[in-house]
Amino acid sequence: NAFIGAIETANPALNAYVETTFDKARAQAAASDAKLAKGEGGALEGAPLGIKDLYCTAGVRTTACSGILENFVPTYESTVTQNLWDQGAVMLGKLNMDEFAMGSSNETSKWGNVVNPWKSRGSNAELTPGGSSGGSAAAVAADLCLAATASDTGGSIRQPAAFTGTVGIKPTYGRCSRYGMVAFASSLDQAGPITKTVEDAAIMLQAMCSHDVKDSTSLDLAIPDFSSFIGKSVKGLRIGIPDEYRLDGIPAEIDALWEQGIAWLKDAGAEIVRISLPHTKYALPCYYIIAPAEASSNLARYDGMRFGHRAEGVTSLTDTYELSRSEGFGKEVKRRIMIGTYVLSAGFYDAYYVKALKVRRRIAEDFTKAFQACDVILTPATPSAAFELGDQAKAADPVQMYLNDVFTVTTNLAGLPGLSVPAGLDSQGLPLGLQVIGKALDEGTVLNIASVLE
Ligand code: GLN
Repeated sequence: NAFIGAIETANPALNAYVETTFDKARAQAAASDAKLAKGEGGALEGAPLGIKDLYCTAGVRTTACSGILENFVPTYESTVTQNLWDQGAVMLGKLNMDEFAMGSSNETSKWGNVVNPWKSRGSNAELTPGGSSGGSAAAVAADLCLAATASDTGGSIRQPAAFTGTVGIKPTYGRCSRYGMVAFASSLDQAGPITKTVEDAAIMLQAMCSHDVKDSTSLDLAIPDFSSFIGKSVKGLRIGIPDEYRLDGIPAEIDALWEQGIAWLKDAGAEIVRISLPHTKYALPCYYIIAPAEASSNLARYDGMRFGHRAEGVTSLTDTYELSRSEGFGKEVKRRIMIGTYVLSAGFYDAYYVKALKVRRRIAEDFTKAFQACDVILTPATPSAAFELGDQAKAADPVQMYLNDVFTVTTNLAGLPGLSVPAGLDSQGLPLGLQVIGKALDEGTVLNIASVLE
């Protein structure tokens, strides 16, 4: 009831929830109370959560914040959300996001932008909570849920977490089932939580992960007890600091935060090692070829026939396709479909798509080599703190917006776990995050390091 009250008060200004499910929440909570009274219950019994509107929820509208899915009510539940309900969690509602998870500011949502609960010192300007999981991050930061699900294709868990002073982890590719998650770029998409603390991140991730026969890329491997890594000694662990992440033009405050993180880990007994990830500079262009290529293919299913928006007053099949898609998709999604279609087309496929796949391999190999010398990698999570909504430079030039993902896309390309932990405030009083990148399947060490930085 406290969370429902908080949502009713704060959501009109923040726009974090696009749909609330309070009746369902009350029923689930009552069932949890009954279980807890008998001394029973799962790991998340009674925990009120927000769900990114990209997870299909049976009987609850799921739009991926796109006009084309405006009226889509799934008949089935995503595996990740089912896992949460099986552990006793309670659903407060569906959270705002960039349309089809394409964006870094939550401004491409059909349902309008989300407002970051944080404000710069001395300014009343509204800030972005980041994207694409802007609703998830804002809801957790503003106490409109205890924790939230999110998804990360190129940074959409970690960047919003960094912008809102929350914790966000993207696990190894395959840890969470993608079944029932609206697809953006299937080889990069991963589910993960946004939470208040690193310990909560461990608990949520534990509940979300599972092997699932309904997703052929889901891993059939034992899932460690993530919570057991929280607060463990980091003595002797080797922390890699990649030379190539020292970018020109990054604010001094970000560099200072990074140095601070290094100093904290050194004090805690970790060893700091310089490493090199030489192909880093190709990561953004590589991501912005592969992600749109896969998106253009995934989004071909929205044809006005099977689900979602269908244009009215059209008589031919081609016109139905064309008009339904023209009306249903927003500008950024159309841009991605055009880029993706272009790089996959005959004549350009080898020059762009195949080249990007080769670069992706090089980026993954960089990490494999670097991890011979270190156990985790520490970097800034974002190149800046939260920026203003309606930022003109970023609105006019999509590449400016894409630059936000400079520190995060590499882990998606390599399939590795990455976490953003709040590590300090900038001179304007805004939160900044540090990123911890781990070896494949080593979320445990990532959580361990993050619990020291927290
Ligand atoms: N900002 C990136 C993009 O727009 C990442 C999005 C994501 O991780 N879903 O593609």
